Amino acid sequence: MTGKATGMTAPHRDQVDRLIREALAARQRAYSPYSRFRVGAALLDEAGEVFVGCNVENASYSLTLCAERVAAVTAIAAGSLRWRMIAVAAEGGATPCGACRQFLAEFHADLAVIVVDAASGLWSNHSLRELLPHAFGQDSLGVSQPQSD
Ligand SMILES: [Zn+2]
Repeated sequence: MTGKATGMTAPHRDQVDRLIREALAARQRAYSPYSRFRVGAALLDEAGEVFVGCNVENASYSLTLCAERVAAVTAIAAGSLRWRMIAVAAEGGATPCGACRQFLAEFHADLAVIVVDAASGLWSNHSLRELLPHAFGQDSLGVSQPQSD
């Protein structure tokens, strides 16, 4: 599997390979009967734990959940709030949508984002700040750290 790094310093290759495998596996579990567009995500936290997600569509389209947010809420529900990297696998290598960028930025504005083309295996490395410049966040509200309660 080949890859290319863009922008920030390349993350550790073993971690990238692991996350790509996990994201591709999660992609196979996508529930996407309407779009047929399968997406898998794998989120690595600072403790080395991996949390996965897949897109989950709904007949009421606006209820659809993206793989990235499913992985994120799975991590949060397990008590993980300190993240290192997320891999997102889709045909063509889709970057996270705007809603997911905002959602992820709540927890790590500089999160490494690995975008994987599920067809070719090619991937690229980005930072969330690159994908969501001038984000609205805690700073906008005068909060320096995310508060859990
Ligand atoms: Zn999304």
